[in-house]
Amino acid sequence: MAIRLIDEKCTGCGACESQCPFGAIVIDDCKACITESCTLCGACVSACPFEAIVREEDSPKKTDENKDYRGLWVFIEQENGQARSVSFELLGEGRKLANAMRQDLAAVVIGDRVETLIREAVASGADKVYVVEGPEYSHYDSDAYTTALTDLVNTYRPNVLLLGATINGRDLGPRVACRVETGLTADCTELGVDAETGLVAWTRPAFGGNIMATILCPNHRPQMGTVRPNVFKRPIPDYSRTGEIIRVPSKVKPADLRTTLVNVVNACTAACNLEEAEIIVSGGRGMGKPENFQVIEQLAQVLGAAVGASRAVVDAGWMPHPHQVGQTGKTVSPKIYFACGISGAVQHLAGMSSSDIIVAVNKDPEAPIFKVADFGIVGDVLEILPALTKEFEKRKQA
Ligand SMILES: Cc1cc2nc3c(=O)[nH]c(=O)nc-3n(C[C@H](O)[C@H](O)[C@H](O)COP(=O)(O)OP(=O)(O)OC[C@H]3O[C@@H](n4cnc5c(N)ncnc54)[C@H](O)[C@@H]3O)c2cc1C
Repeated sequence: MAIRLIDEKCTGCGACESQCPFGAIVIDDCKACITESCTLCGACVSACPFEAIVREEDSPKKTDENKDYRGLWVFIEQENGQARSVSFELLGEGRKLANAMRQDLAAVVIGDRVETLIREAVASGADKVYVVEGPEYSHYDSDAYTTALTDLVNTYRPNVLLLGATINGRDLGPRVACRVETGLTADCTELGVDAETGLVAWTRPAFGGNIMATILCPNHRPQMGTVRPNVFKRPIPDYSRTGEIIRVPSKVKPADLRTTLVNVVNACTAACNLEEAEIIVSGGRGMGKPENFQVIEQLAQVLGAAVGASRAVVDAGWMPHPHQVGQTGKTVSPKIYFACGISGAVQHLAGMSSSDIIVAVNKDPEAPIFKVADFGIVGDVLEILPALTKEFEKRKQA
């Protein structure tokens, strides 16, 4: 899409300049000039009294050209040869979508020494695995991974490409989408197949979670999206499955890489690694004040758990945002989730209700959290949590 000025019609009246919310138009030499700050919002198109500014849509790719694009791909994200759990969750969901679309499911493994990952990808449902291997992929590098994935897409033409909405996935996805000129829906929480068109229906929260938007990508391929970790369950691996392995030589040269990895600093400790945690102890406004979170941290430490928080607590500045669980925070699916002084608002439940076991501690027996809890304790968090910590500590030492 583009915004174009028809020079002959422009009188330099300045109506567009005053209406542009981004200050992207300047009047230069009695003519409007659209600068790089333009976001294509189109406010200037309706503001111009002389119809001198027009919005031009891209011409859609030919539909028959789209038919050349086949198969649903999942990018397997890894660090030090360890795949992120979201990659297998996407293979599980991808299998269902691929079956519904009657297409193959493929995994894309880019890395160094990735034999185990290939086996795991096939066991988790992939019919094919595209592999690009080399020391240049030993750590995530935007340039190297973008080049490798773009090359694979251009060569093998998948219909759909799914990536985890992790820090790396959200760096890589848009870069590849731009290179291959297609659409990408970020941070999806639901995937489906649109009954009318057969396209992937990508659903994601928008405007702070106030609406759920379902987005289609009708004219461009591959249809791309990043998907939040822990929304889908990881499939049980079946090691008797077999798959086709397609090894593709690396085209990245050292000179192509613009960044050098100097050091890796793990700023996010185990306490905020909520998405991979098996146990989470979460606190809400019922904790009373920020200092009382110590009680949550002590219980978490004994259990080897991560620390979560409700949005009320994050908004109040008691805990930083990476700890927030819920619709506008992280989606988690641990084995055990402790909800302490959390009322159980729908927006909080949206991020944790798929936990295997939920334990709620709340002084109000009518709190909605008890409706989803497997175990409930009615009482004051400041009495119950230290007692639990003491008891778990005793059992650990026994
Ligand atoms: C668009 C939108 C998006 C949102 N996204 C999120 C999100 O991602 N995550 C999220 O969490 N919320 C989200 N919210 C906010 C959500 O609606 C609730 O306001 C929030 O979850 C409430 O947090 P809370 O349970 O900590 O606090 P409260 O609702 O105030 O509940 C506190 C609970 O603590 C109990 N309590 C009080 N004192 C004690 C005590 N001494 N011992 C034991 N229990 C005690 C009370 O009985 C009460 O049940 C969102 C809201 C909107 C509109």
